[in-house]
Amino acid sequence: MKVMKFGGTSVGNPQRIQHVAKLISGGDAKFVVLSAMSGTTNTLIEICDYLARDNRLGAGNIISRLEQTYNEHVSHLYSKAEYKAKAGQFISETFNNLRKLSQMAYTISIRREIVSQGEILSTHLMTYYLEECDESVCLLSALDFMKIGADREPDELFISEKLREILKAHAGYNIYITQGFICRNVDGETDNLQRGGSDYTASLIGAAIGAEEIQIWTDIDGMHNNDPRYVENTKPVKQLNFDEAAELAYFGAKILHPTCILPAKFASIPVRLLNTLDPEAEGTIINNDMEQGKIKAIAAKDGITAIRICSSRMLLASGFLSKVFDIFEHFKTSIDMITTSEVGVSMSIDNPEHINEITHELRKYGTVDITNNMCIICVVGDLRWGNVGYESLITDAMSEVPVRMISYGGSPHNISFLVKQEDKEKALKALSKKLFDN
Ligand code: ASP
Ligand code: MG
Repeated sequence: MKVMKFGGTSVGNPQRIQHVAKLISGGDAKFVVLSAMSGTTNTLIEICDYLARDNRLGAGNIISRLEQTYNEHVSHLYSKAEYKAKAGQFISETFNNLRKLSQMAYTISIRREIVSQGEILSTHLMTYYLEECDESVCLLSALDFMKIGADREPDELFISEKLREILKAHAGYNIYITQGFICRNVDGETDNLQRGGSDYTASLIGAAIGAEEIQIWTDIDGMHNNDPRYVENTKPVKQLNFDEAAELAYFGAKILHPTCILPAKFASIPVRLLNTLDPEAEGTIINNDMEQGKIKAIAAKDGITAIRICSSRMLLASGFLSKVFDIFEHFKTSIDMITTSEVGVSMSIDNPEHINEITHELRKYGTVDITNNMCIICVVGDLRWGNVGYESLITDAMSEVPVRMISYGGSPHNISFLVKQEDKEKALKALSKKLFDN
């Protein structure tokens, strides 16, 4: 069985839902994972933010507006009165429930319950539409099998056992549909896999059922070799190794959520990135193969903070780095890049929430220097150290760009540069010219 995940824009309006319905109809049985219609999760979060400020009137207004939008979707999506009524009934129940939730004391559990409604809505609308088209469809609630543990990580054993059980009990359908993103936590409450988590759902399901392939359908024809917002004539990359894809997803390629790679990699299930708007396009296949000696793609990640700590006395003495790392660990801040010298160590983080506390602690060990608004530029490919000349080719491309940090050797697939955000476009273009033109 294949797993097919469709993102928010792929199901963003009634026409798109109908289009996806065509793509998933017929052929072999498949497991379909849907995101919320684009914009819905953001709107649900907005409702929660109003409730958090105790502004129930504001929240109520947004709920009514969103309900109206969904009623319009229903009137466009279905042609038979029976299905207009059925879907209309579901919309009205869902929004009445939202109103009820918005009257209760606001807690994190209420927030998670509200935020989960987007995927519940999209999967119901799609299922009713497929039923109207006489397709063999079975809607499975992700809340029945998608579970996270006390560490907030997916309980893969539970997911696999439960899902196999559920599929056995509902054998014989052509299309199984479920919600991306949402799950239950250890307390049995509705929870989620973090923003953008539907890709993760698809990958977890693929691994759980031993799928032949996990397809991630978006609105671009695969992972591109550079950021199309800044560089012209970027091209889809045909094939990526799981590790190359993980680096690109983590360092800025928006098409795929980074968490999605690991379950597929461990289960050795290929992940294919496809374009809903151009279903015939080849897209990108991510698997265990490694194309020898090839530089594949460049990605960039903004909003990075660089931190340098200098201490001639202590640095690189045994135990010093571990003290530094403990500080980051204490403030649950993960380090992306790190470079060391005899007198200093530089690190980059993407979450500056605790930067003041971290700086305060680091000052106990030396002088600390912080630079904001930085950007990681990451070049990915077969960059094993035996491939002589690759690093120099890449650094040569950066000859006109001020570089704050360089990281190479952490993995055989990546070389990263930390530059000012304002130099990002220049860097992406220069690398593209050197590495891909001709
Ligand atoms: N709907 C969720 C979000 O917007 C999950 C997803 O789309 O992957 O973050
Ligand atoms: Mg997404």
